[in-house]
Amino acid sequence: MSILSGKHGLIVGVANKRSISWAIAQAAAAAGARLALTYPSERLEENVRELAATLEHPVLAPCDVGSDQQIADLATTLDREFGGLDFLVHGAGFAPADALHNPFVDTSRESFRIALDISAYSLIGLTRAMMPLMEKRGGGSVLTLTYLGSQRVFPNYNVMGVAKAALESSVRYLASELGPKNVRVNAISAGAIKTLAASGIGGFSTILQVYRDRAPLRRSVEGAEVADAAIFLLSPASRAVTGEILMVDSGFHAMGL
Ligand code: NAD
Repeated sequence: MSILSGKHGLIVGVANKRSISWAIAQAAAAAGARLALTYPSERLEENVRELAATLEHPVLAPCDVGSDQQIADLATTLDREFGGLDFLVHGAGFAPADALHNPFVDTSRESFRIALDISAYSLIGLTRAMMPLMEKRGGGSVLTLTYLGSQRVFPNYNVMGVAKAALESSVRYLASELGPKNVRVNAISAGAIKTLAASGIGGFSTILQVYRDRAPLRRSVEGAEVADAAIFLLSPASRAVTGEILMVDSGFHAMGL
């Protein structure tokens, strides 16, 4: 399959080989895309560098999505390396540990600010910075990753649920505004997957067991399955799809009990 051949993509959110963004990067590379990967800190640089080395002609750049300057520098780097951009995958998410352990009612103003900034605002900031590059290509596809905790309560998901609600709403507002420029904005709401971010959610293995017991497909999902759906949303196959939250969760969202 080479549905993305000749395309250039930016993938933000690879931490290690379990990252959903890494599964998407591998699938996008297999579909013919040339990719840029980012790392948010020196601590994660080595991990990302090792993974990127398995791709063809990758671009590697720092980007803490909490920094407008680093986002601007990333756009400059991609303009120089790619001369434009066809797609952006936003897989960054973070909430301070206390907000994922304490009762929700005790969420501090600062933890709320950080969770919403890194997990939701960053989609707006990154998309804005990449718009001139996507316009050079006559349009583009922006994809983010969300979770059903935006609409329903999952134990300990707490402020991340609020951040995901803001993220999903941002998808719709961005889609509305950028559609006339042929830039599409969508999200995949993935089922639970054991990743670094998930390990910060207390009782995550219980959530996985509930998927195995109750999801129509009697399981949760794998990164590669999210990645296959991502390739659809990044490619021209989805050229009339925007403002969409695509559920890739073995059907769990459809259940009442
Ligand atoms: P992950 O830990 O592999 O990925 C999270 C990424 O966010 C990491 O690469 C981390 O470096 C990055 N990040 C954190 N702070 C950042 C910052 N300031 N600047 C730049 N990057 C930063 O875990 P994952 O599960 O692959 O998470 C990816 C996305 O998928 C997240 O938005 C997560 O909420 C979402 N998601 C995860 C699940 C799941 O069950 N794992 C389900 C649905 C949605």
